[in-house]
Amino acid sequence: MKQASRIDVLTGLYNRRHFDELFHLAWGLCARRQNPICLVMCDIDLFKRINDTFGHMAGDEYLQLLSRCLLEVFKRETDVVARYGGEEFVVLLPDKGINAAVALAETFRGKVADSVLDYNGEKIKTTISMGIACCIPETNQRPKLLVFQADTALYKAKNGGRNRVMVHDGEDLNSLPNWS
Ligand code: GH3
Ligand code: MG
Ligand code: MG
Repeated sequence: MKQASRIDVLTGLYNRRHFDELFHLAWGLCARRQNPICLVMCDIDLFKRINDTFGHMAGDEYLQLLSRCLLEVFKRETDVVARYGGEEFVVLLPDKGINAAVALAETFRGKVADSVLDYNGEKIKTTISMGIACCIPETNQRPKLLVFQADTALYKAKNGGRNRVMVHDGEDLNSLPNWS
């Protein structure tokens, strides 16, 4: 029962709720050790088009293909890979700096761009956009800050033309005092 409540049924990845729990734990640990923590927000590019063209079942299969790709790239025991919602995924990389996170995200981006879903003879492919934020957390800061920053970077990746990885510049981690 407990395991089921942590898992997204379609993809087999952790769901948003369990991700939030693991994120809080990892955040506290990294804050105490003063180790970096990185968050990668991923959003499938033009995913609606796949549903509209090939149907919702094809979209579901693409989500499963993408989930397998994620687990092939982010495979360290401490990496947390989750379905954040709809066609958005999130990866938490504790104890890793920004350069390592960007390298992994680029590997994943390339893998997705090269992947083709064979759906009843139809060849389906798209790309992925990502936003990354990284910090050495303080115990009085909230993990949501990093989500906000990664989201902002993801938004820039979309606006920059999609199929790309953008990094948040990290300057305003403390400028949002109302985040809880
Ligand atoms: P963008 O590149 O700007 O992200 O474009 P997009 O089409 O990916 O974004 P948009 O938000 O317009 O569409 C997201 C789509 O994801 C719409 C929704 O129906 C689809 N979706 C969300 N969850 C699921 C799911 O579980 N299965 C399927 N097949 N589709 C889903
Ligand atoms: Mg989206
Ligand atoms: Mg999308």
